[in-house]
Amino acid sequence: MVPCARVGSGRLRNLLGIDIYTAKVDDSPRILVVEDDARLSTMLEDLLKSEGYLVTTARDGQRALHDGLTQKFDVILLDRGLPVLDGLDVLTKLRQSGVTSPVLILSALGNPADRVEGLDLGAEDYLSKPFDIDELLARLRGLRRRLSSSIPVLIVPGGAYDVAGRSVTRDDGEEVALSEREGDLLERLARRPEQVFTRDDLLQTVFADADDPGVVDTYVHYLRKKLGRALISTVRGIGYRLGRPT
Ligand code: CA
Repeated sequence: MVPCARVGSGRLRNLLGIDIYTAKVDDSPRILVVEDDARLSTMLEDLLKSEGYLVTTARDGQRALHDGLTQKFDVILLDRGLPVLDGLDVLTKLRQSGVTSPVLILSALGNPADRVEGLDLGAEDYLSKPFDIDELLARLRGLRRRLSSSIPVLIVPGGAYDVAGRSVTRDDGEEVALSEREGDLLERLARRPEQVFTRDDLLQTVFADADDPGVVDTYVHYLRKKLGRALISTVRGIGYRLGRPT
């Protein structure tokens, strides 16, 4: 066994300098806490850590958007009134980019019209400030339960991709396991089967810690090798899309 050093979440690098993508190292739920009030942010961070969450905090909308686009979260706790970019704008942009993590809006604006606005923009839940800690924790548990019972199976050319199990059951019945990165890339493409993705888009959303678009080509190659060339087509001069061009 070649000794490895951990170089990032779910990633190991062996002595030859080759990255090995591993199964999720830690199964704790990951939460993004977006709150500009420093005291409340710290309080939420401490509380959620003590409840077993892996917490990432963002203090303004732009940071929140960046984190939401480049990392995977099991749930996002989102304040509405934020510096730089408003919470609802963050939510809109995340949903437009295909981010499906459940969002709970936490806001001082709590009248029915405010709630409807947040829910219409794609939030799963809405809690007004001041809030009860036990209620917040219960709602977060509820969101995660709903998520785990609705983890999708995505239809891909030649089979079906089980996102949670990170495996493709091919039409001939064979099961093909994917690495974390292969799975993330396939999920991105398969959630919007009609869309052509640029390499830059895929680089930013799937390979946030890399900066060479060549890594996208490499992982497309890996996926085609495992699941056949027809899985992903190259759109010349633009990028990639799921399946054969129509
Ligand atoms: Ca605020």
